[in-house]
Amino acid sequence: MPGSGSDRAPAALLWDVDGTLAETELQGHRLAFNRAFAAAGLSWYWDLDTYRSLLAISGGQERMRHYVTTVAGLEVSADRLAALQRSKQAHYRQLVQAGELHLRPGVGRLMAAAAAAGLAQAVVTTSGREAVEALLLQLLPDLMPQLAVWVCGEDVAAKKPDPEGYQRALALLGLVPGQVVAIEDSPQGLAAATGAGIATLVTRSLATAGQPPGAFAGAGALVSHLGDPNQPAEVLHGPPCPGGQISLRYLHQLLQP
Ligand SMILES: [Mg+2]
Repeated sequence: MPGSGSDRAPAALLWDVDGTLAETELQGHRLAFNRAFAAAGLSWYWDLDTYRSLLAISGGQERMRHYVTTVAGLEVSADRLAALQRSKQAHYRQLVQAGELHLRPGVGRLMAAAAAAGLAQAVVTTSGREAVEALLLQLLPDLMPQLAVWVCGEDVAAKKPDPEGYQRALALLGLVPGQVVAIEDSPQGLAAATGAGIATLVTRSLATAGQPPGAFAGAGALVSHLGDPNQPAEVLHGPPCPGGQISLRYLHQLLQP
C-alpha cells in the first residue's frame, strides 16, 4: 500500500526532475533555449558557463528575463518572453522525443525498487508539466504510473529554493517531512527540500558538479549518482554505501531517528 513503507525504507521518495533523473539542464534545456533564440533570429547563445550561472534563477521565463535585463542590458516585453518560452518548450520536446537525453545511473533501478516495495513516489520540479510529461514518457514509460503526485512549476506561487513545492507534495501524499526522502542535484533544490524539513540525498549533476562542497552541506548524503551494478556511485559525504548502489535501506538511514 502506498505510504505504508517498511522499517527499512522511507514512506515515499520525492524526485527532482532536471539534473536528477537525466542531465536535462546542460544537454536539454540549454540546447532548447539556444535553438529558440536562433529560430527567433537572436544572437544570444548560452554556453556551458553562462548556463551554469543562470541556473541560480529558477524557471525558464525568469531565467531569460534575468539574462536579457542584467547580462544583455536590454528591455524585452512579456509577450516576447512568452513566445520565446513556447518556442523553447517545443524545441525541448523535440529533443527529448528524438532520444537525445538518457536516464542517469541508478534512477530506473531505485524507482523500480521503490515501486516494488509499495512506496509512494512524487516529482517535485520547477519545470513545466508539459516538459516533465515529455521526459517521463520518453525515459520512464513503464514507471510513470508510479509517480502519483506531480508538483510542477505552474503548481506553485514560489519556485525552488522556496519549499512550497515540497510542502504541497507532502500535503498531497498525506505524509509528514520525517517520513520521506528527497533526491535533488542542485543547491536550490536542496534548500527547497530541507526548507520543508525533508532529508535529502544530492546526486551531483553536470550542472552542479562545480559547486563548492559547502553548497551541499545540508544534504544527508552527497553522491556522484545513484549507482548501478556496472557503475558504482561514489559517496562524497554521508553514510558509506558498500557496493555503490543507493538503496531504499540507504535512504532510510538519512531519516532523523
Ligand atoms: Mg535539479
